[in-house]
Amino acid sequence: MKKPKDILTTGFGAPVENDLNSQTAGPKGPVLMQDVHLLEKLAHFDRERIPERVVHAKGAGAHGYFEVTHDVSRYTRAKFLSEVGKKTEVFLRFSTVGGERGSADSERDPRGFALKFYTEEGIYDMVGNNTPIFFIRDPLKFPDFIHTQKRNPATNLKDPDMFWDFLSLTPESLHQVTILFSDRGTPRSYRTMNGYSSHTYMWYNQKGEYCWVKLHFKTLQGINNFTGEEADRMRGEDPDCVTRDLHAAIAKGDYPAWRLEIQIMTPEQAKSYRFDPFDLTKVWPHADFPPVEIGRLVLNRNPENYFAEVEQAAFSPANFVPGIGPSPDKMLQGRLFSYHDTHLHRLGPNYHLLPINAPKGAAMNSYQRDGFMRFDANGAGGPNYWPNSFGGAEPDAGVTPPPIDVAGMAARHAFVLGDVDFVQVGDLYARVMTDTDRDHLVRNIVGHLRNAQKRIQLRQTALFYKAHPEYGARVAKGLELDVKEVERLAKMSQEERVAATAK
Ligand code: NDP
Repeated sequence: MKKPKDILTTGFGAPVENDLNSQTAGPKGPVLMQDVHLLEKLAHFDRERIPERVVHAKGAGAHGYFEVTHDVSRYTRAKFLSEVGKKTEVFLRFSTVGGERGSADSERDPRGFALKFYTEEGIYDMVGNNTPIFFIRDPLKFPDFIHTQKRNPATNLKDPDMFWDFLSLTPESLHQVTILFSDRGTPRSYRTMNGYSSHTYMWYNQKGEYCWVKLHFKTLQGINNFTGEEADRMRGEDPDCVTRDLHAAIAKGDYPAWRLEIQIMTPEQAKSYRFDPFDLTKVWPHADFPPVEIGRLVLNRNPENYFAEVEQAAFSPANFVPGIGPSPDKMLQGRLFSYHDTHLHRLGPNYHLLPINAPKGAAMNSYQRDGFMRFDANGAGGPNYWPNSFGGAEPDAGVTPPPIDVAGMAARHAFVLGDVDFVQVGDLYARVMTDTDRDHLVRNIVGHLRNAQKRIQLRQTALFYKAHPEYGARVAKGLELDVKEVERLAKMSQEERVAATAK
């Protein structure tokens, strides 16, 4: 037998007597202004959409837990990492980056891997990607870069000229471009890809000793990707295939899991390391800094409401807990501002109070007050300023992070492009990739780059050639470019190459 339903009400709780017929003057209308239920219903519907995320608009999420499996208390004082066996509730949002909310899940794109830990010391967010690196290493370039991955301002179409023009003028992007155009750029499932902090972070212990760390969440389902052809087909067959896959797996109790490994670098090692440890276009090769297993992440509960839990979820790399802090990585420093800022725009100044974003099991005692949609007690009658002598919350000097030594001239310091920028790309192509990986990489690049102007094809292919001559030569052949010309361009400085391909 059906359970009797609660009575339908307006948004303000008054019972509604009829939800099928508007109030009208006679059976044929017109509609009466006094039908306040109709007016309220239409007005709310008119306001259902909030601003789409400017990046990472299409996403899927799930709840779960993180469990510490190895002792890391000598590296960090973070309480949620303090003992083996300790479990912390998490929420993970996966996403594509460049597409709109309705775009296809199998688009070639990095995938977001944003993880919220509800710790006893407040929210800790690790806002990562499925790639260990990124296209650029200075946040000043980020808005330009994203514009080129989105739509042409005149035609509103994706534009291969914009896409490759920017990348070929930004050679530090080559490492990420190579991962993006490998089959790792089209994961078959969010469950079958890794998640990386990408950035370097500071971890510090109770004694104030610190080290630099990178986090790698390695999938326990095994890496599994679409080929370029499969990804293209899935765009039409099932644009939501990856969202569907995650939901279906969790619904049937097949809970996806990841092993957390960290790489650790001491401040002394960082001073003289051959790669800049804070350059987001570089990894720390495993042979130099072997990954150490420290934990396990499991997703075991689907959201009950997409908008409340996934669309309103707001992550920020600025959400640290004692024991974890930022590094000098310039891209990270830019993100420390931008994520919080974009949520203020998207969700309003009190988005931290929304249930999906609020701490669980940790007190929230700030002096921030008021603002749109303040829907908690707003500090009630307590003091709203500090210092005060009315028993308000006090700062705790015991959680002060260690000081780090920085000095230098205030200036817009340029990164100087060097051969070091091509070493890791060549290594990935020649040593890590299999023959099949390389075949697919070249095919995927050729299929996309062939739509750009020839001068841009030449400039970009010269960069592939610089990373590894075979890589460049294979792309050149696929594009029917003159390999000798590509080789000549590869031997030039970036400035000369840009001048030679200006028209
Ligand atoms: P290793 O041989 O120790 O590790 C290679 C890494 O590459 C593995 O983590 C593997 O991930 C990953 N990998 C395999 N195929 C691809 C692909 N098509 N796209 C991206 N990553 C892939 O090598 P090194 O540590 O010396 O690094 C060599 C190169 O490997 C780097 O220059 C970088 O391009 C890439 N890489 C390195 C990582 C690092 O943190 N050191 C992380 C990821 C990539 P998995 O174990 O999941 O198969």
